[in-house]
Amino acid sequence: MATLQLKDITKIYTNDSREGRKASSEEKGAVRHFSLDIEDNEFIVLVGPSGCGKSTTLRMIAGLEDITEGELYIDGKLMNDVAPKDRDIAMVFQNYALYPHMTVYENMAISLKLRKASKEEIDRKVREAADILGITEYLNSRPKVLSGGQRQRVAIGRAIVRDPKVMLMDEPLSNLDAKLRNEMRSEIIKLRQRINTTFVYVTHDQIEAMTLGDRVVIMKDGYIQQIGTPQEVYDHPANLFVAGFIGTPEMNFFDSALEKDGEKYYLDTMGYRIRLPEETEKKLSEAGIGSCEVTSGIRPDHLRVEESGIASTVDVREMMGSSVYLHLSMGDVNAVTIVPSITAAGKYQNGSSVSIGFDPEVVHLFSRETGDNLIPFNG
Ligand code: ADP
Repeated sequence: MATLQLKDITKIYTNDSREGRKASSEEKGAVRHFSLDIEDNEFIVLVGPSGCGKSTTLRMIAGLEDITEGELYIDGKLMNDVAPKDRDIAMVFQNYALYPHMTVYENMAISLKLRKASKEEIDRKVREAADILGITEYLNSRPKVLSGGQRQRVAIGRAIVRDPKVMLMDEPLSNLDAKLRNEMRSEIIKLRQRINTTFVYVTHDQIEAMTLGDRVVIMKDGYIQQIGTPQEVYDHPANLFVAGFIGTPEMNFFDSALEKDGEKYYLDTMGYRIRLPEETEKKLSEAGIGSCEVTSGIRPDHLRVEESGIASTVDVREMMGSSVYLHLSMGDVNAVTIVPSITAAGKYQNGSSVSIGFDPEVVHLFSRETGDNLIPFNG
C-alpha cells in the first residue's frame, strides 16, 4: 500500500527512437502538467484514446521513462531518480511477458528468487497467489498450453507475489476476447478486494474505466481533461470531450442557444424553447453566464419516445438485446435514444415516425466557444 503524488509532471520525448518510426530531433510532449494525488489503496484508472499519454504516465511511475519536469512521490518520498527495482512497484502488461521455457510456478517465483527469498516463503506466496487467481492446477504447466485469460492470471500472480506497494497495469485485458475480458474484469475487482495495494490501471476502454476505478483520470493529447469518480464524470462531464467519451451510446449534441431573461434562462433547441430548471438557472447565474451560443447534450437514455413531442423519423433500429437503440433524425439534426426491448417489441421500424421528449433537468450545457461545461464541477 502506498500513496502516490504526481506533481505537475511533463514528459517530452526529444527524439522518436521507436522502431519503424522516422528518427527526428523534434520535441514531442507526450504528457503535460499532470497532477494527481492518489490515496493509499485507491484504484485509479487512466483512460483516453490511443496516444493520449496514459502509458507514458504509467511508465514514468514505474521508472521506465524519465520524468522531464515535475515530481513523483511514493509515500512522500521523491522518486524521480530512484531506479525501477527500488520503487517497490509491480507492473502487468498487455502481452503478459511470461518466460515460455519456465513453468507457471517458476514464472511466478522468479522475482522472489532474485530477491533471495527462502524456498518456504516462495512456495507459500506462489501458492497463495495461485489460489487467489484460481490457477493452482496449472502451476506445473508451461505458458504455451494456457489460454489468454490464464496467462494473464499468471502475469498478475507474478506481480502480486511481490506484495508491491503499487500495482501498475497497462491494458491488461486488451488481448482477450470480449467474454473473457468481462470475466477478467470481475476477477480484477475481486483481486482488488483481497490484496492491499494501490492500483494505477491504464485502458482505452471507458467501460473498464467506469467499472474498475474508484476515480478515473480522463486524458486527451497529453492533458488531463477531468478527474473524478465514475458517477461524477458521467453526471457532470467537464467538457464536450469527456461528455462524448464516457457513456455508450454517445451523448447526443445539439447546436442550441441560451437566452438569459432577467433571472430566467431559456434554451432554444431542436426548434423548441424550454425554460431551464431553477437549480440550473441559479448555477448559470452564479457562474456569470449570459445569453450565448451553446452545445446542449442529452444522453440517449434521457431522450424518451412520447405520445407528443419533437417529431422524428427512425433511420436505423439496432437490437442490442435488453434494449433497442433508435437512430433518429429530426430535420437535419440526428440523435440516438434507447428503448427497452420489451417496450420496442413490434414497434419503431426503420422509417417509422415517432415523437420524443426530455426533461429539462437532463440537459448538459457546453460553451460553443471552448467546449467547457457552463456549470463548473461542484458548482
Ligand atoms: P497511450 O498510452 O495513451 O496510447 P502513449 O503514452 O503511448 O499513449 O503515447 C503518448 C504520445 O507519446 C504518443 O503521441 C506517442 O506517439 C508518443 N510516444 C510514446 N512513446 C514514445 C517514444 N519512445 N518516443 C517518442 N514518442 C513516443
